[in-house]
Amino acid sequence: MLTYKVQLYPNKQQQAKLVEQLDICRKLYNKLLEECKKAREKGEKLTQIKTQSFIVWLKNNSMPELKGVYSKVLQMVNYTLWANIKSLSKLKKSGRKIGHLRFKGKGWYKTINYNQSGFKIDEHKNKLIFSKIGTINCRGLDNRVRKNKIKGIILKRSQTGRWFATIQIENTPLVLPKTNKSVGIDVGVSSFIVDSDGRSVENPKNIDKQLKKIKVKQQTLARKKKGSKNWLKAKLQLAKLLAQVTNQRKDFLHKVSRFYVNIYDFVCVEDLNIIALSQKGNKNNKRSRTLHRHILDASWGQFFNYLSYKAVNADKKVVKVHPKGTTQECSRCGRIVKKNLSTRIHFCPYCNLELDRDYNASINILKRGTGCSSILVENRPLVIISASAIVSGQVFSMNQATPSLR
Ligand SMILES: [Zn+2]
Repeated sequence: MLTYKVQLYPNKQQQAKLVEQLDICRKLYNKLLEECKKAREKGEKLTQIKTQSFIVWLKNNSMPELKGVYSKVLQMVNYTLWANIKSLSKLKKSGRKIGHLRFKGKGWYKTINYNQSGFKIDEHKNKLIFSKIGTINCRGLDNRVRKNKIKGIILKRSQTGRWFATIQIENTPLVLPKTNKSVGIDVGVSSFIVDSDGRSVENPKNIDKQLKKIKVKQQTLARKKKGSKNWLKAKLQLAKLLAQVTNQRKDFLHKVSRFYVNIYDFVCVEDLNIIALSQKGNKNNKRSRTLHRHILDASWGQFFNYLSYKAVNADKKVVKVHPKGTTQECSRCGRIVKKNLSTRIHFCPYCNLELDRDYNASINILKRGTGCSSILVENRPLVIISASAIVSGQVFSMNQATPSLR
């Protein structure tokens, strides 16, 4: 199961309602716990099912306020209580010395748990609809939430008083046809990545443009008086811009990783944790201090993460190989051909192979990942794929099953 957290923006009325419901849940929790304690003193044993049906009785008798809370939410209060009881008795059995379950004081019951039902997602707007609460604005719903089956939503108030929804998504495995194809992917110097089938995926061009905008906004913010109306306004604008940049980058990374997992059964990449300590690190060092570089580095890590989880979900494989020497090695004869950062072409004086340097590296990565040394290496021009073509869906579309470019 995957979980996904979004911030909620309840209006004043809804906030009051949420707080009220939390407190009703707390009182119910305490009431049920009290019943359990009473029963034990009398030497009787209560069960989860018995306390469950007790809720119905409470609703119609001493606690009519329970009617204001969605019934499944109340069930989950009972569930939580019994989960606590069970984990406590487990600890006791293991010989630990522990006290009894305690009643929850005001403010100590923190979640409203909608399990299986009682919620809805507004497809087109950023809104979540809860039974007995209403339609609450939120931010950050994306396709992952919209397209998957939602198992439940847990509402929680943070210490600063903000509300969040943790959305639980069922992780349905994706059935993709096996292609029996493997690929090696090298993180590029001038492009985002280059693969062993000769594709070069360009970096999103708008990064620099947006970074400029962000810098301007940051300066604006710094000039305002902290806490003032204008400061708050500038702060919100900056947050919006950052969220926009992040979303665009994620969209790009999702589409590229989807493409590779759809087409290949076996994807080989370098182990980025080792890269930081090796020549690849030096390769990037020249500009490593710039924000641009920082974002790219983060993007590769995120790209590999997306690749990995998408692969696991589709029963495919991502292999991380040791990056040492992938750029220097000749992908045809295996000899070392030294080159510095500015050398764009791999030219091997031993076997006369001439290739783009990153293309050469990607073939070495494929060889290491598959353990196969007899890969036919040919010199061919790289197919350049622009980031905008990817984002707009011209290439690397979500449903693409076969490569459209060769
Ligand atoms: Zn060679």
